[in-house]
Amino acid sequence: MSTTAAAYDILIRGATLVDAQGQRRGDLAVADGKIAAMGQHLDGHARQTIDGEHFFVLPGYIDAHVHLNEPGREHWEGFASGSAALAAGGCTCFVDMPLNSTPVLDAASFAAKADTLKQHSRLDGALWGGLVPGNLARMKELADCGVIGFKAFMSNSGMDDFPRSDHATLQEGMARAADLKLPVAVHAESDEMTSRLTRDRQTRGSCGIRDYLDSRPIEAELEAIAEALDLARQTGCSLHVVHVSSASGLEMIAQARAKGVDVTSETCPHYLLLEEQDVFRLGPAAKCAPPLRSAVEKKRLWEALQSGLVATIGSDHSPSPPNLKTSANFFQVWGGIAGAQHNYPLLFEEAVLRRKIAPSVIARLTALHVAKRFRLPNKGDLRVGWDADLVLVDPDSPHEIKADDLLTRHKLSAYVGRPTRVNVTATIARGRIVHGLGQSIPQHSARILRPNPL
Ligand code: ZN
Repeated sequence: MSTTAAAYDILIRGATLVDAQGQRRGDLAVADGKIAAMGQHLDGHARQTIDGEHFFVLPGYIDAHVHLNEPGREHWEGFASGSAALAAGGCTCFVDMPLNSTPVLDAASFAAKADTLKQHSRLDGALWGGLVPGNLARMKELADCGVIGFKAFMSNSGMDDFPRSDHATLQEGMARAADLKLPVAVHAESDEMTSRLTRDRQTRGSCGIRDYLDSRPIEAELEAIAEALDLARQTGCSLHVVHVSSASGLEMIAQARAKGVDVTSETCPHYLLLEEQDVFRLGPAAKCAPPLRSAVEKKRLWEALQSGLVATIGSDHSPSPPNLKTSANFFQVWGGIAGAQHNYPLLFEEAVLRRKIAPSVIARLTALHVAKRFRLPNKGDLRVGWDADLVLVDPDSPHEIKADDLLTRHKLSAYVGRPTRVNVTATIARGRIVHGLGQSIPQHSARILRPNPL
């Protein structure tokens, strides 16, 4: 063994290190983009040493559900601003959805988005491909490009260029995805039910917040989840149900999984941090689909999370320009909650500080489970030799979230005005400080992440 003290790039001293298993105090060293060592009082020196005494260090948030809208609608967000906000929120890599940008439906649109991401993003990113009527024959080429999986809508997506998948399309698409060994992610709300309830209200001229919330009940989610589970069972496809808003939905998914269906569930920070009454308080900034639920439902969702029914937490950061958030008709308001910069610290605060949930639970839901589900190798946990993707969380930094602090293109977030104690002090992605500590970020170094072959 060499007796020469090691030279590291970054050395974090005396932090609370949180991995998927638990937590302990110790040092963590980074070299060449990897976690080089962990332990008590590590020997060696570094170009930068961080006193970690007041910080939790967790594996960086892998956000598998964002809409950064580029190319095509970069005036809505874009990779530069979106990834800066994500980095400030503890995210170390992300997976961009195939819609709201120019839709990713074939190899050419994948290449266009991948090039743009590499040029403008502060963080590495993977891409979802789209599954829509008419692009079934393109799924193979998308898989060859390296999509992480295929996203389909079971109800209207709100985007004319990304139509919903009818039953036959979803069935055939899931069969093909199973052959390609890639998951299908579904937006699960019954189109029949939500369209009917929407039509009923609009013909009466009832277009307020309550009307919108009532047009997308939990039953619509459950009906679509049941259909998707059925198709997953038939086709053998890996299914990932995104933004599950109800405990009942999570329970249905868990029951199917217990019977051998390869299915996982995602929920979003806004269903855990906000509730129906916040839509009345915040208005358009809190409109999303499925909508925010009642306080009782939010409580049930936390209980489900604590009993292990949630696999991953994705932000569904879905920004838009302010002018799409102004209609007096709530059905016409753009549906999407922007929260990239604060989802993670607020979730940490609510879970760990208020509800006394172990930080390792957050580490699993935001990192290891995501990396495993989407086959991102050497990511998602604090292990020597794995990528140095880290978030440093300060649990005692009281402040109020201000619009001026937002790094997103539009200063619009559901969390502006919210007081919090938790701050992301720094984010380190592949050993580079991408947020905090006054570091400059090397330009144009983002990579496209692709799933490990099975
Ligand atoms: Zn989404």
